[in-house]
Parts: sequence; structure tokens; C-alpha cells
Amino acid sequence: MTAPVTDAVSALRVDVARLHQELIRWNLVVWTAGNVSARIPGTELFVIKPSGVAYDDLLPESMVVCDLEGRVVEGAAAPSSDTAAHAYVYRAMPTVGGVVHTHSTYATAWAARAEPIPCVLTAMADEFGGEIPVGPFALIGDDSIGKGIVTTLLAHRSPAVLMRNHGVFTIGSTATAAVKAAVMCEDVARTVHIARQLGAPAPIETRDIDRLYDRYQNAYGQSAAE
Ligand SMILES: [Zn+2]
Repeated sequence: MTAPVTDAVSALRVDVARLHQELIRWNLVVWTAGNVSARIPGTELFVIKPSGVAYDDLLPESMVVCDLEGRVVEGAAAPSSDTAAHAYVYRAMPTVGGVVHTHSTYATAWAARAEPIPCVLTAMADEFGGEIPVGPFALIGDDSIGKGIVTTLLAHRSPAVLMRNHGVFTIGSTATAAVKAAVMCEDVARTVHIARQLGAPAPIETRDIDRLYDRYQNAYGQSAAE
């Protein structure tokens, strides 16, 4: 690796280790489930969590660097068991800079029913631009999870997909943006679930969803990631 790449790897090791603590903070994961990765800009590499390490023990130096085929390039531990899915997303979606996977409770309850979360909140229109879609049932071991994530996300504006009977995958231009999408996904999954217990949530007109999405993505704050 060249010196600038080594510097980028060091910075992203710190970033990705820190973002795993955000998954704990926002109550999105239990035990060792869940993972965050970040593409190393200008390379065919990404940084990801090691497999089966307790969240308290996740340090920058324990992160693993992989190539876009999911092979380990740097790191002592085996990478996350979801590495192949992350690698597939980076290969297929060149603008994606970060990927997150969780089994967060409310969102995964929608995934268990294979039901998309309807866009019935303005915050959903802002972040997801419509429903949060369901991806296919897929088993770990080959490219089927990655393929299911990419096919579903390419057909929607949502940066989050509920993989059927499994859990949530989110993408972003950075790993921070992907973590934000995972946090927001769980939040709206919970709110819409509660709304459902009380009756039928009122729909938002497509035209208004478009307006909200455009405003939030293009004009709100400093950038969509904030
Ligand atoms: Zn999983």
C-alpha cells in the first residue's frame, strides 16, 4: 500500500471501530451480531469488523481490510461472516462508501413478515424517499445476499433494505451515512409498527414524498449525510 492509502486505512480503522459503538448506543445489535464497513476511497479495498469479536473488544487494530472479492488483505482475525455481501455491494454500486448490517428489532420484525415499511412519515420521505423495501430470502455462503440487496436497492430510492426473514442492510456515501440510515430505519419501523396497533396509518401523496425527499437530500443542512 502507498503512504496515502496507509493513512486512509488507519483513519477508517478508527472510524469503523467507533461506528460499531453507535450500533450499541442506538440499540441496534445484540451479542456480536451486526457489522459496519467502509470503502477505502480510490482503492478496491474496504475495512470491516472481524468475525465473532465482542463489541467491547473492537479496536481500530482489530478491524480487517478486504479486497472487493472479500479476501483478507490486512488483519489478524477472520472478517465478518457478512463480508461477501458487503463486497458484492461495493463491486456493484461504485458510489457506495459504507455498508451496515443489523438485526434491529422492529425493522427485522417487518422483514420477518416480508412486508415493506410504508412511507407514512415525513421523516421517512426525507431519508428513504418512499417505502423501505423487502429483499429476497437468501442464505449465507454465496453471492445471493449481496445480489438480493443490490437488486432491491437499485429499484428504490431507499438506502435501506429489509432482507426477508433476516434483517437490515443499509448503504451510504460514507459509513457514517449508512449507520444513520440504519438508525433511522429502526426508528421509523418502530413508529409505523406502533401506528399500526392503533389503526391504519394515513398515506402521504407521492407528490409530497417527492418534494420532501428532494428538499432533504438537496437543500437541508450541509449535506444529506448530516
Ligand atoms: Zn445477519
